[in-house]
Amino acid sequence: MNHKVALITGAGKGIGKAIALAFAQAGYQVAVNYNGSKERAMEVVETIRSYGVCAQAFQADVSQEDDVKAMVDAVVETFGRIDVLVNNSGITKDGLMLRMSSEDFHKVIAVNLEGTFHCLRHVSRIMMKQRSGSIINMASVVGLIGNAGQANYAASKAGVIGLTKSAARELALRHIRVNAIAPGFIETDMTAKLAEKDQQKMMEQIPLRSFGKPEDVASVCVALASDAFGYVTGQVIHVDGGMVM
Ligand code: NAP
Repeated sequence: MNHKVALITGAGKGIGKAIALAFAQAGYQVAVNYNGSKERAMEVVETIRSYGVCAQAFQADVSQEDDVKAMVDAVVETFGRIDVLVNNSGITKDGLMLRMSSEDFHKVIAVNLEGTFHCLRHVSRIMMKQRSGSIINMASVVGLIGNAGQANYAASKAGVIGLTKSAARELALRHIRVNAIAPGFIETDMTAKLAEKDQQKMMEQIPLRSFGKPEDVASVCVALASDAFGYVTGQVIHVDGGMVM
């Protein structure tokens, strides 16, 4: 059992939930962030506590800097430190670019990119004092190759990759590693919205011929945060069944 602390954003469901449970299984104490899914976040906390590991839920809308600051203060007050931050929260508001409203463009940037920036900034202050830490930002293969109907989402995830590399350069001397994960198609509520024919098209582009599970992303997160990856920073790790190579 290690007594390190992991803060996972958007950990009430989907990939974030799997990440929170995987860090708990690795012995980390877990701060479970949620925005709207309070009940689900409390269930995740209860599951983690059933492993004999400390966990607590913290509400914050990551697009609101004041919320993030209050959450980070509360996590440090509760656990005393933060060793791992996973910026997992994300939304989609898909539509063809010519029909996409500025509001839908900005909302996705506000949560996916600005939210990552707010958490990164406030948590890195804590990690700088500790002179150690690992930050993992959830990007997407769409941030690397684009996708028709996802101009806002692709821009936000490409931005997350640039942010990751810049932060990795700024924080390296304080022994803080910053990496990104680029999942392909992972089975969650986010991808369940896609039409059957679009899912079929997607499957044809995956050399491993299966969709990913949230646990596939979670296990890579835990490995990336571990000392085994202590010489890895500023990288984008693809978890996509070979979709982008
Ligand atoms: P999901 O099931 O829709 O979950 C999204 C999570 O983000 C929820 O926990 C939600 O929390 C949280 N969230 C949304 N807005 C938030 C806000 N303003 N503040 C704080 N949290 C917020 O999606 P998912 O598939 O697990 O996706 C997780 C991450 O992986 C996202 O960044 C997504 O872009 C990325 N990703 C997913 C796939 C995929 O195929 N599924 C592929 C590539 C990348 P509440 O429910 O509490 O509001």
